[in-house]
Amino acid sequence: MKFTIQNVLIPTDHAYAFVDVQVVDGKITAIAPTLDVVGTAIDGTNKLLLPGFVNAHTHSSEMWQRGAIPPLPLELWLAELYDFSPLDLDKVYISALGTAVETLLSGGTSVVDHLVLIPGQEFETIATAIRAYKEVGIRAFVAPLIQDESLTAGIPSGESQQTHEPYFRSTQDTLDIIEEVVKQFHHPDEGVNILVAPTGIQLCSDALFTGCIELSDRYNLCRHSHLLETKAQEKLAQEKYGCSAVEHLHRIGYLSDRTSLAHCVWLSDNDIAILAETKSTVVHNPLSNLRLGSGIAPLLKYRQAGVNVTFGCDGASSNDSQDLLEAIKIGSILHNVTDLDYQHWITPRQAVIMAALGGAKGLNLGNKLGSLTVGKQADLVLYDLTNLSLLPRTDPIGLLVLGRPCNVVNSVWVNGNQIVADGKVINVNVDDLRKEIYSNSQWHSQRPSSSVKRLAPHYRKVMGLPD
Ligand SMILES: [Zn+2]
Repeated sequence: MKFTIQNVLIPTDHAYAFVDVQVVDGKITAIAPTLDVVGTAIDGTNKLLLPGFVNAHTHSSEMWQRGAIPPLPLELWLAELYDFSPLDLDKVYISALGTAVETLLSGGTSVVDHLVLIPGQEFETIATAIRAYKEVGIRAFVAPLIQDESLTAGIPSGESQQTHEPYFRSTQDTLDIIEEVVKQFHHPDEGVNILVAPTGIQLCSDALFTGCIELSDRYNLCRHSHLLETKAQEKLAQEKYGCSAVEHLHRIGYLSDRTSLAHCVWLSDNDIAILAETKSTVVHNPLSNLRLGSGIAPLLKYRQAGVNVTFGCDGASSNDSQDLLEAIKIGSILHNVTDLDYQHWITPRQAVIMAALGGAKGLNLGNKLGSLTVGKQADLVLYDLTNLSLLPRTDPIGLLVLGRPCNVVNSVWVNGNQIVADGKVINVNVDDLRKEIYSNSQWHSQRPSSSVKRLAPHYRKVMGLPD
């Protein structure tokens, strides 16, 4: 497959240039003011070409509960989420399609799906999500969400003695499932990657982390987890380990240049230094952190310490959307309130680099993806600069990041294959998808969550809230 995008606007170091871009066999082969046309000619007039972004942390099946969960902190929000998580594979398939479509239409070409597994159908859940991603053509990083402790173990004990139900599946069985999934589905050259993804210190034993490290080393897999999303998790780490979660994960060897960590809200300066030293990546999920009251991740400190940072939407029931451009906007301007020195603030161009190259680096693919560079894979997004929300003609990247872009994605290629054309996803009939989502859901406003009711008193007590 060959094509040449002609007369398209791309960012240069401090300005913009009109260029032609050649793509051959999935790779960018030339970028210059005027090139001979190879393959199909594509008119780039009045369009901006950027490398595709990475939606670096989400949970696709949360789509079924977006808008539904009341304002609750993570620990209680999660209890309600799990009470109503979809338990059928058709829904897994539809929500993976939906997540892929919304990611593509907001500038993403890769998605990291920290995929919630249906108990007893773990393998089938993963196979189903992968089928959806392959159909759409998005680059998929499927990170099966695993744990080996039950939900109540995620709340600190405080002064009380707490006992928890054993988790229903053994640690070894979980690791065996992941290994089988890796053998069958981990095909990076075909755009499907499996990650080891213990959900986080709050619900995982050291045995599970260690097993994941071994799989990661044996099969060259990236590692993905939640880390210190809430104040409660900071307390829990001290109870569990007598040190910070970051110190503990460093000690057991989990942190590395192929480890990406979602949230990272409650880290000390020493923790930040460890992330920098281990070259770990922070995935910032600003909407989710605001929605669940988790806090503001110290992003400017990460950047100053040299930690690689990128953006995620997080699951659609803590966001409650899957709009990557929105996450990038909020995730960059949110931090202006944390530091008076505006020289540290994130510029729109820096935000774009974080979303594209930062995301690629977090997946250990910084040399293959994430920038408009000859030799890199052609994961590209073409934005329509005549769209009303990108006018008037000022600074295109400034307006893309700081504005409220609507339906601005004109074309998307992943690995040189076009999967969005004229603003339409090619391989999915979005009208049919809408009908499927509609017919598989119902309007409702109040639903009783027995787990929230059960856990709330202890949560309130341990977090020092009034009865
Ligand atoms: Zn998450």
